[in-house]
Amino acid sequence: MSIAVYPGSFDPVTLGHLNIIKRASRTFEKLYVCVMVNSGKSPMLSLEKRLKYLEECTARFPNVVVECSDKLLVEYADSRGATVIIKGLRAVSDFDWEFQMALANNKLAPHIDTQFLMASQKYMYLSSTIVKEMARYGVDLSEFVPREIIDDFKNQINSRR
Ligand code: ADP
Repeated sequence: MSIAVYPGSFDPVTLGHLNIIKRASRTFEKLYVCVMVNSGKSPMLSLEKRLKYLEECTARFPNVVVECSDKLLVEYADSRGATVIIKGLRAVSDFDWEFQMALANNKLAPHIDTQFLMASQKYMYLSSTIVKEMARYGVDLSEFVPREIIDDFKNQINSRR
């Protein structure tokens, strides 16, 4: 079975993330979307919310499983029998860091390959950080985050004011 892992912080999941999930789920028999809890970032949303949002917007993809992990990424991938790590590439700014990570992961686990999917032109500029910023100013989020999560996400932002 072809199994891949798509890791991230998903704080929150955006339409850019969802576009990568949709495309990867067509290529692999099973895709684990994993919220990594040891990435050194301090997320705004709780782990529970980030998982819930991912579950809601991926419910229509039967071969997608949403999980979280605090393990080293390659250890998590091994534990799921995955041989591929999927990364989304936006502008040039993503490249340096992602290339470095791919080489480090390859050193740790040569049997696991990192595969990059180019961001769709439509979502090239989109990041969770930009979405949070726009939400704080009350911008309509329908072109940026999955519709399933919009109302709850707005409440999360408003409760932090
Ligand atoms: P962000 O960089 O938005 O905080 P994550 O750490 O959750 O997001 O990113 C997880 C993965 O998704 C990374 O491989 C990242 O490059 C990719 N990604 C994030 N936003 C997009 C997008 N708009 N289009 C394609 N890939 C993306």
